[in-house]
Amino acid sequence: MMRAESVMAEAELSVVAPVYNEADNLRPLLDRLIPVLESCARSFEVIFVDDGSTDHTLEILRKAHDADPRIRAIALSRNFGKEIAIAAGLDHASGAAAVIMDADLQHPPEIIQSFVEKWREGYKNVYGQRIDRAADSPLRRLLTQRFYRLFDALGETRLPRGAGDFRLLDAKAVAALRTMREHARFSKGLYAWIGFKSIGIPFEVAPRLQGQSKFSYRKLTHFALDGLMSFTTMPLKIWTYVGLATSLLALALASFYIIRTLILGVDVPGFASLIVSITFFGGVQLLSLGILGEYIGRIFAEVKRRPLYLIEERVGLTPVAQDELSSRARRDWV
Ligand code: UDP
Ligand code: MG
Repeated sequence: MMRAESVMAEAELSVVAPVYNEADNLRPLLDRLIPVLESCARSFEVIFVDDGSTDHTLEILRKAHDADPRIRAIALSRNFGKEIAIAAGLDHASGAAAVIMDADLQHPPEIIQSFVEKWREGYKNVYGQRIDRAADSPLRRLLTQRFYRLFDALGETRLPRGAGDFRLLDAKAVAALRTMREHARFSKGLYAWIGFKSIGIPFEVAPRLQGQSKFSYRKLTHFALDGLMSFTTMPLKIWTYVGLATSLLALALASFYIIRTLILGVDVPGFASLIVSITFFGGVQLLSLGILGEYIGRIFAEVKRRPLYLIEERVGLTPVAQDELSSRARRDWV
C-alpha cells in the first residue's frame, strides 16, 4: 500500500540524471543521493534517462525501481546525447523543482541540500558553480576557458562562470525550458537565457567514479559550435564588414590603376598579384559560404521538426508529458 501511494503521489523534488553506460556508478550514486534527498525534500523522485546505453544500465534501473518506486527511468531509443537526454528528463519531471545532475558522482549529491535551501528562499534557478576544474585535463581546461571568452565576446547571452548542468530549477523555469524544442541544444546557454532569480553555489568537482568521460574532443568541438551558433549570428554578420572592406579596397586599387595607366600607359606585368588576389578572395568566399552552410544546416535540422527524442521504455513513469508536448508542437506549426 505504501508503495502504490508513493508511485502515484507527485513528488516535491524531481532529480534528473542522464546516463550513458553508467552501470557501475548507479548503485554508489543512489547510496549517496537517496539519504540526502530524504533529509531535504518532503518527497522526491529520481528520473534516470538511459541515453541508449549498451551495458546493463537499464536492467539495474528496472531493479532499482522495483526495490524503490521513487526511482524511475526513461530509456531513449538510441544515444541522443546528454543535452537531449536532459530535455527528456525534464519533460517527465513533475516536481515543484527539478535538480539536474551527472550520474558519475562528479556532482556531489550533498550540495543538493544547499540548492533546496536557496530554492525555499525564493530562487528559481540555483546553479552549482565549479571552483576548480582539476578533474579535467589541462588541454580541456584551456579550450573551455577560450570558449567562454569567445562566447562572451560574440554571444548575446551572458554565461555565469563555472555554471554547468548541475543545478536546481523551479517548476516555472522547467516549464520555460520545456517550451524550447531546439535540437542543437546548448543547455548552459538556455539556462542563462530563461533568466529567473538565480544564484550560484560553489562546489568542487570530484573525479569521475568509474569509466571515462563520454566527451571526446571531437564531440566537445561540435558542442562548442552548436553553442556559439545557437546564441549568436555574429559569424554571419562579419562577412558584411569583410565584404565592405574588400570592395572599398578593390575600388581604391581600381582608381590607382586607372590613374597610373593614364599617366604611364599600359604595362602587362602583374601575374603574381593577380593570382594572389584571385586565390585570396576565392578563399574568403568559400569560407563565408561555409559559415552560411553551417547555419543553413542547423536551420534544416530544426525545420524538419522531428521529435527531440524517442522513448523505448518507461519505468515507473506515465507517457503524458512528452506526448502532450510533441502534439502541441505539431499543432502550433500547422
Ligand atoms: N551522458 C549521456 N549521454 C551521452 C554522454 C554522456 O547521457 O551521450 C551522461 C553521462 O552518463 C553522465 C553525464 O552525461 O551522467 C556527463 O557525462 P560525462 O561524465 O561523460 O561528461 P564530463 O563529466 O566529462 O563532462
Ligand atoms: Mg563526468
